[in-house]
Amino acid sequence: MGMTPPPDLKLIDEQGRRIDGRAPNEIRNIRMRAGVLKRADGSCYLEWGGNKVVAAVYGPREVHPRHDQDATKAIVRCRYNMSPFSVDDRKRPGPDRRSQEISKIMSEALAPVVLTQLFPRTAIDVFTEVLQAEAGTRCAALTAASVALADAGIPMKGLVAACAAGKVANTVVLDLNKEEDNYGDADVPVAIVPKTGDVVLLQMDGDLTDAEFYQAMEYAVQACKQIHELQKQALLDRYKDAAEERASERPAPGGDDAEPGEEEPVIGEPGDGLDEEPVSPAGDEEVFG
Ligand code: UDP
Repeated sequence: MGMTPPPDLKLIDEQGRRIDGRAPNEIRNIRMRAGVLKRADGSCYLEWGGNKVVAAVYGPREVHPRHDQDATKAIVRCRYNMSPFSVDDRKRPGPDRRSQEISKIMSEALAPVVLTQLFPRTAIDVFTEVLQAEAGTRCAALTAASVALADAGIPMKGLVAACAAGKVANTVVLDLNKEEDNYGDADVPVAIVPKTGDVVLLQMDGDLTDAEFYQAMEYAVQACKQIHELQKQALLDRYKDAAEERASERPAPGGDDAEPGEEEPVIGEPGDGLDEEPVSPAGDEEVFG
């Protein structure tokens, strides 16, 4: 944020388009898939523009160290981690101030949404790993984490959807990309619970006027609603897949052996569901018209 752009870089062109061709209120392509990790209780893989994030949920389970446990409710612990190869300059492995901050804001965004009082003395652990980063990773991680929580069957008031808005070249824009994040004037990550309307994350880096702030919020909230639809679809697809998987595991009529089930799709290979046309809310007239 706030870096001086190279002299030939136009963040907004004469037609009002951004460097990646988007209109100010368009988000990048998003696709997500729930239930990708066998050993996690719940999981989600999400691609959002150039971001690639995986989320894994474990729990409710015993709390270690035990003195962290709460006799009245579950504790929600999030870890945000960026892999060393996720960014241009190799990221030094291990926690740093930024990842600690993001882990903290993620825990604080998810804890009030999970029905923690149903699971006293337990921990719900949420791990998010950023495999590739292109700005907006905290929103991507939070969006994936909430799908992974639902996939784990954790009761919640609703899903959490997140998206940033901000300002570049004097224009309020939605979902900043890497250049916009570097050379822009403001970045406002927002997360809401679309079902209740609660805002569970609101940060601001840079300066906005009141009018710009409300415009940015309006863009972000509309985007979160659209992302919420994709989250619900990913969960529906997950349970459709699970039902089909169970059916294929049933013994074949008249024989002891089960019909060979279809192999688990592998991300990046044909048939993984991710090679289809990305679902893009961009250009959805109902929301962005
Ligand atoms: N970034 C990077 N190296 C780092 C941290 C961040 O290259 O050590 C990049 C990465 O692409 C990230 C972007 O800077 O997505 C913006 O980071 P920010 O702290 O604003 O968080 P984000 O927008 O990812 O939530």
